[in-house]
Amino acid sequence: MSDQPEGPRQLPLVLAEPRGRKKPPRHLADLTPGERKDLLVEMGLPGFRAKQVATHYFSRLVDDPEQMTDLPAAQRGELVEALLPHLMTPLRVLEADKGTTRKTLWKLFDGALVESVLMRYPNRTTMCVSSQAGCGMACPFCATGQGGLQRNMSTAEIVEQVLAGARSLERGEVPGGEGRVNNVVFMGMGEPLANYKAVVGAVRRLTEPAPDGYGMSARGITVSTVGLVPRIKQLADEGIPVTLALSLHAPDDELRNELVPINTRFSVAETVDAAFEYFQKTKRRVSIEYAMMRGINDQAWRADLLGDVLNERGHGWVHVNLIPLNEVPGSQYTRSFDKDTDEFVRRLEAKGVSTTIRDTRGDEIDAACGQLAATE
Ligand code: SAH
Repeated sequence: MSDQPEGPRQLPLVLAEPRGRKKPPRHLADLTPGERKDLLVEMGLPGFRAKQVATHYFSRLVDDPEQMTDLPAAQRGELVEALLPHLMTPLRVLEADKGTTRKTLWKLFDGALVESVLMRYPNRTTMCVSSQAGCGMACPFCATGQGGLQRNMSTAEIVEQVLAGARSLERGEVPGGEGRVNNVVFMGMGEPLANYKAVVGAVRRLTEPAPDGYGMSARGITVSTVGLVPRIKQLADEGIPVTLALSLHAPDDELRNELVPINTRFSVAETVDAAFEYFQKTKRRVSIEYAMMRGINDQAWRADLLGDVLNERGHGWVHVNLIPLNEVPGSQYTRSFDKDTDEFVRRLEAKGVSTTIRDTRGDEIDAACGQLAATE
């Protein structure tokens, strides 16, 4: 967006392109197995073909119709058009860490841009996915937050990011041999709980046993949120044991109102209560995300206060993840000094709160922070 006029809020580039109010193409990953069947029957096609197409998509990881030789040639085109429409096109792929970190910039059907990141570790592979094009939460230190919300993504657009990663692992395109996606984190662009239905749909598709879904464990999925309290409560009642990550970033309302503006609606106390309830209902330990910003939220006294705020509810229910800030060009927020981050860890550990510092994998390609889409 470097050639855009300067202003307090730059217009996302996609608004310059013609955009109808059209919805993303309907795809089998948007539908339950029953709905896929019904759709084919309505079209006058045999319902059992739905399972064959799903097997290609979720189990065999095939996306080329030519390879779907069990589908009669006469129906193949129609079946693929109905259930596997083209959803997104990779515009750029950036690699780091010898190819084991791969960030993809995607162009959606209407020109909206989103990012996903594949991170391969010796024993597992994580996909970081976007749930919205842009984001409406306006956190001032976040690159995505600066452009506003363009639109919600569909369930299939979310699932397809994971499946694209799965296909590249299957095809041996990522160093380390063949593999599967073991973890999915909703830490790309967007606020997942503001696109609740599509996100829960994606979680269901990813966890449904193959060939109806991708068949991964819900325990491998993390939904990260600014803290939409009613939605956290709703998620706790879904009966899918995903990990909840709460982007707290400050233990006090005064500072959190500034860093995470939705805090003016849901206070730190209400938000942390909701996270604690999530733990009680699901027995899943909650992650607290805390991006370390120099001189802003990284004081030793705030570490003590954070420890107290968490311990007030209980012990052993939470894990703190300190994220070295990814500095956004032109932003007033900078990364904390290591000594302050280390002291922050010490203070939290002294209060019995388990704490880790997130590795800065893919730092040089701005792996986690919406900066690629922002510069396009
Ligand atoms: N809307 C969701 C997902 C956002 S991205 C949420 O807020 O949780 C995942 C994490 O990255 C969030 O904790 C977010 O606050 C954090 N983040 C955003 N910008 C960042 C930056 N510049 N440096 C470090 N972390 C950042």
